[in-house]
Amino acid sequence: MANGLKLGSFEIFWLDGGVFELDGGCMFGVVPRALWQKKFPASDDDYIQLSNTPILVKTPDANVIIDTGLGNKLTDKQKKIFRVTEEWDVEASLARVGLSREDIDHVILTHCDFDHSGGVVMQNEAAELELTWPKAIHHVQRAEWQDVLAPHRRAVNSYWPVNLDLLRGSELLNLVNGEAEPVVGVKMALTGGHTKGHQAIWLSSEGEKGVHLGDLFPNHAYFHPLWITPYDNFPLDSIAQKEKLIGPAVDEKQWFLFYHDPYLLAGKFDRDGKVVEEFALGDQVR
Ligand SMILES: [Zn+2]
Repeated sequence: MANGLKLGSFEIFWLDGGVFELDGGCMFGVVPRALWQKKFPASDDDYIQLSNTPILVKTPDANVIIDTGLGNKLTDKQKKIFRVTEEWDVEASLARVGLSREDIDHVILTHCDFDHSGGVVMQNEAAELELTWPKAIHHVQRAEWQDVLAPHRRAVNSYWPVNLDLLRGSELLNLVNGEAEPVVGVKMALTGGHTKGHQAIWLSSEGEKGVHLGDLFPNHAYFHPLWITPYDNFPLDSIAQKEKLIGPAVDEKQWFLFYHDPYLLAGKFDRDGKVVEEFALGDQVR
């Protein structure tokens, strides 16, 4: 049985949601290469690795998944374009902690871009599409869902109908108006910034705390509020939210959970952005 990160009575696991590579310039934008390469490793042609790890939070009350990975519906051409180096396999990683897809009670989507919602719908053995988490309530901010239904020109490239159509009109879809706490100690709130309806998640159990800032803080290099991805549709909102949210969480010694970081699954930081405690891939004993 795998060991996760303990946070009070919660245990947190990072599942195999697929790994792909992007041009580092596409991820770091206005930050010069000479700076970002000191913080994050790159290949010879300046590509960086992005894991896409659904985060399983086991609480005494429920099993919660935050974001869903790349899914198993990418075509060979898409896998080549996105330089997929590891495939999505959430069933195998759930089995390692003694769970199946049916055991998940809640799915929280930070937002609906394909790299976060790709695992909402999967292709089964009969090559049919089905909801990956058939018993889970799926929590999406209402503002995000409105953009999914009527995407602006830029968002249309990242909200893929194949990932989200089965949720349309489904009783498993819960639209959140700003804030919600569907499970004791698991709270979500609207941040905007990366997308209009992007949300963050706060975990709290027995005095220990963690925060998942989604794509506002995709990997450990993005500590500085001005380091945001060029994919952010509302960059000034991203900066404002990071300025508001990161400092207090640092002072409270909260764990920052990462979705896109192949090196650091979770970390605690000091005010200068130095990692003072870490939970890495090797710590999640298999
Ligand atoms: Zn992302």
